[in-house]
Amino acid sequence: MPVESIFHRLEALLPKVQKPIQYVGGELNSTVKDWDSADVRWALMYPDAYEVGLPNQGVAILYEILNELPGTLAERTYAVWPDLEELMRAEGVPQFTVDAHRPVRAFDVLGVSFSTELGYTNLLTALDLAGIPLLAADRGEDDPIVLAGGHAAFNPEPIADFLDAAVLGDGEQISIAISEVIREWKGEGSPGGRDELLMRLAESGGVYVPRFYDVEYHPDGRIKRVAPNRADVPWRVHKHTVMDLDEWPYPKKPLVPLAETVHERFSVEIFRGCTRGCRFCQAGMITRPVRERSITTIGAMVENGIKESGFNEVGLLSLSSADHSEIGEVAKGLADRYEGTNTSLSLPSTRVDAFNIDLANEFSRNGRRSGLTFAPEGGSERMRKVINKMVTEEDLIRTVTTAYSQGWRQVKLYFMCGLPTEQDEDVLGIADLAKKVIQAGREATGSRDIRCTVSIGGFVPKPHTPFQWAGQADHETVDRRLKQLRDSLRGDKNYGRAIGFRYHDGKPSIVEGLLSRGDRRVGAVIRAVWEDGGRFDGWSEHFSYERWMAAAEKAGVDVDWYTTREREENEVLPWDHLDAGLDREWLWQDWQEAVSGGEVEDCRWTPCYDCGVCPTMGTEIQIGPTGRKLLPLTVV
Ligand code: SF4
Repeated sequence: MPVESIFHRLEALLPKVQKPIQYVGGELNSTVKDWDSADVRWALMYPDAYEVGLPNQGVAILYEILNELPGTLAERTYAVWPDLEELMRAEGVPQFTVDAHRPVRAFDVLGVSFSTELGYTNLLTALDLAGIPLLAADRGEDDPIVLAGGHAAFNPEPIADFLDAAVLGDGEQISIAISEVIREWKGEGSPGGRDELLMRLAESGGVYVPRFYDVEYHPDGRIKRVAPNRADVPWRVHKHTVMDLDEWPYPKKPLVPLAETVHERFSVEIFRGCTRGCRFCQAGMITRPVRERSITTIGAMVENGIKESGFNEVGLLSLSSADHSEIGEVAKGLADRYEGTNTSLSLPSTRVDAFNIDLANEFSRNGRRSGLTFAPEGGSERMRKVINKMVTEEDLIRTVTTAYSQGWRQVKLYFMCGLPTEQDEDVLGIADLAKKVIQAGREATGSRDIRCTVSIGGFVPKPHTPFQWAGQADHETVDRRLKQLRDSLRGDKNYGRAIGFRYHDGKPSIVEGLLSRGDRRVGAVIRAVWEDGGRFDGWSEHFSYERWMAAAEKAGVDVDWYTTREREENEVLPWDHLDAGLDREWLWQDWQEAVSGGEVEDCRWTPCYDCGVCPTMGTEIQIGPTGRKLLPLTVV
């Protein structure tokens, strides 16, 4: 059956909203396939505004892969701003895709990529506008399968009631596999309806279907067990890992945004996974093992991506890009290739060592030396040991001295506040470090024109990390420490003006903490917040702590119990039945090591310390020089 575009109805509303361009689609490299020629149809959602969602790599990659698949189509949808939401409700316009403006409810799957838990209320808005029942249990045969992915899907329990399914890990292969399951089921005449389709997905062991698992609780509120309620559904659901990134060189045709977005560049992921072992870093833990893209593929992707998109900036992405085993050759090769052109290169993640400055110099050959960013994360040596961020003060000072003496004038330093075992003096150590950085810069250059910006984020303990058992610092403690730090920086006549200070108060971290380590009972809080008008919680101008606390009280959920409470070793955690590949015993041991200040090395270069990922997943670390060259290249 043909599905009509709703654009003519939307168009009448656009003059009345802010940034209407974000809703019109038609971007360079966007795709509209014939509806009736496809038998599997995906609506892919990034649950934030277009300006944040369009550059998202995960959605962009799946959009291309699914559209390349014969008989499958994929379109994109984003969260609409409250001004358009209000008009859509008044006029009865449903949630739509930006590609062909088709109603989201007409698709087979609504796939939602959650980078952060603060997008949960936007999911509810989209479902409601689409006319899809909020609760999975209320959905019928004509409703799409609502499927979550992205990092937050590693604990989807707080939104379990709103989801039909969730997928852990890399999406490339599993999205194709899901499409095939749906195609086959539809081809057979959809036997057994929605329930059988979900069973077929669940039986594979690679798709989590929350309704097929029951959660039992102890009288004190802790979870007793999570168990499948159907035969043939596995006890644990495993994550997906693409082992050879060279086989998946996406995006090939980068989407070029129509409106201003948060990143306007062509990004190539140069490797996936990280084994540095920073204990706070969920991304590093859940994306193990390390898998590098070869220098040849990186070179070809950059060349092709620029040609297809016209972007004049290329970002080499990963969790720690300077760690690619051939990054020196990649940097030099690309800098040579694009020297004298208007194409600039950037390396967003940086580590603290002199090699990095050489890289930064290569990358800035064609551009300005605007600023260098380092992330020591902890203000004191003791704190950095606890989080396993092996950066000494000497390393940092040596590195910034080199940077300043080579012409860089602006250094940004990232830290976290509220880390486990943190004391006031650990946070005040950030001020000492920043002052020493300025001092080193002044000595290296003989100039007082040296700047350093200190940015602080609130720490949130995350599932599948060694800190998953930790008690989160309450917001009063975080705010008090940040105030002390600010006073120490601002009150210093000699350095105060040279140091910029950026931070957020501690309240949003508490809500993020509730959603990160929550269980199914937290779903009632999310719903109550949404019903009370909660939208775009990742945006400080929309976020309301009071609204979240009122909703928690209404739902009978004790926020402290979920956030500031330290868990015991044997407590069943809401995500224990979801397998990120990490060995639980190893995570616990590493948590104990953290408290005693023990460090672990990067297993890329040192012997395996049995985190469990490689044997559990039947995978291995994949790094190492290919011996190949980035050349021959087309000189642009
Ligand atoms: S299993 Fe060993 S080699 Fe593999 S990621 Fe874990 S520690 Fe590293």
